[in-house]
Amino acid sequence: MAHDAPQATGPSKLVIRNIGLLLSGALEKPILDADTIVAVNGKISAIGRFKDVDTEHATTTVDAHGTTVAPGLIDSHVHPVAGDWTPRQNQINWIDSYLHGGVTTMISAGEVHMPGRPRDVIGLKAMAIFAQRSFWTLRPGGVKVHAGAPVIENEMVEDDFKELAAAGVKLLGEVGLGGVKDGPTARKMVAWARKYGIQSTIHTGGPSIPGSGLIDKDVVLEADTDVIGHINGGHTALPDGQIRCICEGCKRGLELVHNGNERSALFTLRTARQMGDLNRIILGTDAPAGSGVQPLGILRMIAMLSSLGDVPAEIAFCFATGNTARMRALDCGLVEIGRAADFVIMDKAQHSPGKTLLDSVQLGDLPGIGMTIIDGIVRTQRSRNTPPATKVPEIVGH
Ligand SMILES: [Zn+2]
Repeated sequence: MAHDAPQATGPSKLVIRNIGLLLSGALEKPILDADTIVAVNGKISAIGRFKDVDTEHATTTVDAHGTTVAPGLIDSHVHPVAGDWTPRQNQINWIDSYLHGGVTTMISAGEVHMPGRPRDVIGLKAMAIFAQRSFWTLRPGGVKVHAGAPVIENEMVEDDFKELAAAGVKLLGEVGLGGVKDGPTARKMVAWARKYGIQSTIHTGGPSIPGSGLIDKDVVLEADTDVIGHINGGHTALPDGQIRCICEGCKRGLELVHNGNERSALFTLRTARQMGDLNRIILGTDAPAGSGVQPLGILRMIAMLSSLGDVPAEIAFCFATGNTARMRALDCGLVEIGRAADFVIMDKAQHSPGKTLLDSVQLGDLPGIGMTIIDGIVRTQRSRNTPPATKVPEIVGH
């Protein structure tokens, strides 16, 4: 529940030892041969065998007790508004609850649930800058929320994007949730955003709530956003033929969300696999939404895609970590020297018939989370939300 400052104060050295399985987040090598990670001042400084790495003078030592360490999960599609409160379902502490589901980084797809959301150009720019600033200062539970994602309106001109970028805005909210719903206008503004280093996403599929509209394959392909937001619908998906057209018609990110159509998510996964494009698959919850908030939504997507989509669990974890980090140029998401020391430590849930953590996920069970770490600082221990982990890591020294 603590609202932590972005960085730790003073030098820190974290050692995680006795790691049973180390997931890298990288599709090309999802499992690393190492039992120890060292992080200095919040960044990974060594990965290897305990005897080979410098573990002296640690400020925190975690004994993983043979459990699994993975990069902290990234939710590529959330709708935050202000602080750790969502007006959509009037819930508080939903971000802190996601941390208990292993999510250490979130990307806003637009602060669209703001009561009285301004739609005039100066108002929407002000709101985006406010959201970017406030979520960079406030990190509920330590979770990094990349927010400040304006929803484009027809009256915007190129200078608006230049001004937003100069003020620190790095994202566009879902194209299609505002007044711009046609391909040519979307394409022009997405290109302006890209020119100034602002990433973009689009609402794909049928309307999400009354007042939102249909965005079909022609608009999606013409708009050419960096990420095809919820290609499996939010919640109403496009027909399979249109999903295939989008997969084949561009090389942009294919985002699968929890609050979408599960069958369409599996169809997208199969299509991407046939194309040799699994690196394009990233995961989000698209929450808060009409179906509430899902603290375990990313874990549920991993287990669903692994079990029903026949994807090895270590690959499914990459969809929610390294793939997203690379696509969105984040410094987390991979167990790699120099990256942010953001981790989730898991074990198979108690009484899962799976023999190992990976086996249990491939059988469709959720893992039990035993600890989360952000910027080298332990944030939570045994999760209050997941099924209980069989074994949990332990802090053995400060
Ligand atoms: Zn949407």
